Amino acid sequence: MFNVLYLCLLQHCDESVYRDDGEQQPDSGARSSGCSNKNTGFSDEESDSSIEDSVGSEDNTGSSSEEENMEWSEEDIHFEGTEEEMAHGEGSDKSNVDDAQYSWFTYFILQLTMWKSHFTISDNAYIALLDLLRSFLFTVGSIFRLDILKNLAERVPSTMYMVRKILSLKKDDFTHYVACPVCNEVYTLEEATIIVKDGRGIRKKSARCSHVTFRKHAQKRHRKECGTLLLKTVTGKKGLTYLHPKRSFCYRNVTKSLQDLVHRPGFNESCEKWRQRDMSDNIYADVYDGKVWKDFQSYNGKPFLSEARNLGLMLNVDWFQPYDRVKDSIGVMYLVVMNLPREERFKQENIIIAGIIPGPREPKEHINPYLGPLVSDLYDLWKGVYLLDSSALGKQQYRAALLCLSSDIPASRKTGGFLGHMGFPWGGKVKF
Ligand SMILES: [Zn+2]
Repeated sequence: MFNVLYLCLLQHCDESVYRDDGEQQPDSGARSSGCSNKNTGFSDEESDSSIEDSVGSEDNTGSSSEEENMEWSEEDIHFEGTEEEMAHGEGSDKSNVDDAQYSWFTYFILQLTMWKSHFTISDNAYIALLDLLRSFLFTVGSIFRLDILKNLAERVPSTMYMVRKILSLKKDDFTHYVACPVCNEVYTLEEATIIVKDGRGIRKKSARCSHVTFRKHAQKRHRKECGTLLLKTVTGKKGLTYLHPKRSFCYRNVTKSLQDLVHRPGFNESCEKWRQRDMSDNIYADVYDGKVWKDFQSYNGKPFLSEARNLGLMLNVDWFQPYDRVKDSIGVMYLVVMNLPREERFKQENIIIAGIIPGPREPKEHINPYLGPLVSDLYDLWKGVYLLDSSALGKQQYRAALLCLSSDIPASRKTGGFLGHMGFPWGGKVKF
């Protein structure tokens, strides 16, 4: 299961950044956040710098005077470089991937990438293989004086970004929130940024976390705001300074993910197979035999699971170590469509990754802030959303309900707000 989860994360997240020398390195910033910095308005150069900045920043409560004077440069605000330039600092793409005469070469890269996916080859190993291919083509082209081979060598992608670009692979569209490293409260990037206008021009600096854990506590000192700085300053390769979230929470809209699923041919048919299943009164062989599933056949007198296009979801929450020999732990919230047959519902392509909870440590008490966007989406799905499926009927209404939570005991406590014997009351239960 962890392998499946990790593969899902690899599929949705860029996990690597590139140092000045071009060497691919695991990004400690990504390691702590578990996701790329796409859509944050920050370049990969920031991640590059965050490798050093994030060291020892776990317990940083934002008291540094340097951080209090953080600024956003104009170049950062209006950064318009391409993603490739962001990944490599400067320079342009040598290969013109739109060149039609090399379309067959693109097809070869596609086959190679499918092979990588099928055998779960790591990104680093895949890039090493492409480097080997490039060296081979260039060497043979040089020996036999074949320019076409040398041209091909130049077109072999050198990064996973280039692979995706050549293949026009769909990028993830996660929403990136800023998470407080101390209390885990979640903010949008706009909320975490303060724009200052003065005689020196327009500057941006980090906001402080305004969360109050015990708002109604009898003692005033317990009603203080968290006050942690949410963004940190990093310096890019060109000497520009940027603001970068200390923790990033990546979330993908569940309705969008469901749209991708129902649009896939055969998905709806698979979701209806459970109706033909032999059900025995005395044998609990699947979720369909349980009381919850049977109760949700109708709700408040109106049909729900008894009708097509109404889905029952299971939320899974767990933490895992993204890297070997590193104690960092990131969490993942993913949904499973229980209408699918059991042998189908946990396949990688059928899992809905909802959110990636940043590390490097698990939240101690609860994950309520991270559940906020998910609860909002589930509320919309309960009311009904119109999705374009694989039928010829156009958009149809789909509804979904969260029927159960699957996790280990610590994760279930943090998700549902149920305290363990060592727990400390933090305020209440999550309302679904
Ligand atoms: Zn906070």
